[in-house]
Amino acid sequence: TNTGLADIGLIGLAVMGENLVLNIESRGYTVAVYNRTTSRVDEFLAGRGKGKRIIGTHSPQELAAVLKRPRKVMMLVKAGQAVDDTIAAIVPYLEPGDILIDGGNTHFRDTERRLQALAARGIRYIGTGVSGGEEGALRGPSIMPGGDASAWPEVQPIFQAIAAKVRDTDGREVPCCDWVGPGGAGHFVKMVHNGIEYGDMQLIGESYHVLKEMLGLTAPELHQVYARWNQGVLDSYLIEITANIFQHVDAETGKPLVEVILDAAGQKGTGKWTVDAATDNSVPLTLIAEAVFARCLSALKEQRVQASQVLAGPSPRRVSEREEWIADVEMALYASKIISYAQGFALMKAQAQASGWDLNYGGIAMLWRGGCIIRSVFLSRIKEAFDRNPKLVNLVLDPYFAGELGRAQHGWRRVVSRAVQEGIPVPAMASALAYYDGYRSAWLPANLLQAQRDYFGAHTYERVDKPRGQFFHTNWTGQG
Ligand code: NAP
Repeated sequence: TNTGLADIGLIGLAVMGENLVLNIESRGYTVAVYNRTTSRVDEFLAGRGKGKRIIGTHSPQELAAVLKRPRKVMMLVKAGQAVDDTIAAIVPYLEPGDILIDGGNTHFRDTERRLQALAARGIRYIGTGVSGGEEGALRGPSIMPGGDASAWPEVQPIFQAIAAKVRDTDGREVPCCDWVGPGGAGHFVKMVHNGIEYGDMQLIGESYHVLKEMLGLTAPELHQVYARWNQGVLDSYLIEITANIFQHVDAETGKPLVEVILDAAGQKGTGKWTVDAATDNSVPLTLIAEAVFARCLSALKEQRVQASQVLAGPSPRRVSEREEWIADVEMALYASKIISYAQGFALMKAQAQASGWDLNYGGIAMLWRGGCIIRSVFLSRIKEAFDRNPKLVNLVLDPYFAGELGRAQHGWRRVVSRAVQEGIPVPAMASALAYYDGYRSAWLPANLLQAQRDYFGAHTYERVDKPRGQFFHTNWTGQG
């Protein structure tokens, strides 16, 4: 089957790898493939890979031998030890100048460690986020590469050919793939993308909760609400699939499928990583943190069932103004979403500063505009905000978003306060509102906190009537 030298090699023929190979091949490239369990290679070539410009190989050595130079090898294996194992297996057959790419959901610190170790051997390393799941990998993912910039021109044609395409604000078609930055910048941006995905999903879940409990909407009615929202400011992939989900009927029971699915969420850890990075950088990323914890709370299903018999609370009363309530919930979701993205972009800014990366924030919004799970029309507004002011400190300070928040806050406040009154948890919407009110407060009660810290620990404080940077201590007890 060796019909010539391959343009790129791909290691790891699970869901993502297989689909990415088929995508690359469909753009006219020849792809060589290898998988640790080599029977996967044969199965793939006999199945979905049959009759295509795909070369099956059964060892890392064989893979390296069929690649054009400089070699380009992309790994799509399980994040963690599997990447180190795969690197150890292929590196003996690579030469200085060759390019090794990790396309998995790797922690950016691991990417930085591997990049440094491989640079010492002359191997150019790229860590890239690939988003969009199975379907995206096959038809056009969002791709967020970072690492050794000298390798970018070598892989750019292939990556941009296989990426999703969107129209930019001038109507030009652009690929959802561009160079993100050095080191682990690509994987960091992908991690924040996943965190934002957690936040978006939690917000949609909360909107479902308040619509269901306080209007008693049925699944077909919920379908209509989300389908309508998908025509407005919330127009996005996640709202679209939510609308579709409410239409699905369970074959076994005849009920809406969503109602027979157990209410205990799983997670793979990229949301947690995002929150870890936020605390490391002292960035208030409250919405995504609430989204991660909401999944943790949902997973305590047995405890919740018990507690529901023990702990008191109001029984939610129905809201009578149906259309007004739906409009308010839409605004609560929209405003909270603006806060979530503002927090996510603030995190990227903080890490960029700590790591010395020069990130293009409008460009990142456009990378997410297509191909990935958080794709939405809204991201174009973010691009426009950073076009207006590339040094924008916080998205909420952009005139457009400030105006939108001002417009949406009334419904947002009504939904949060009513939900609290009726005993319905809306952690992400409520914490987003608390962030909004905290961020727009010239004064916060942290003066008392500083007094307490100085009282018990002599941590000192600054004064409102003296320059910043001058520290004072008071002997609060008159002792000592
Ligand atoms: P996966 O289930 O995460 O990983 C399976 C692949 O890893 C197989 O090829 C397996 O080889 C290989 N592997 C595992 N341990 C290994 C080891 N110690 N040494 C060598 N190879 C090893 O596959 P996936 O779902 O396609 O995901 C691939 C990457 O993309 C992951 O980082 C994932 O987080 C990321 N990702 C996935 C999605 C998605 O929707 N699935 C979306 C975006 C990103 P064997 O066949 O020999 O076991």
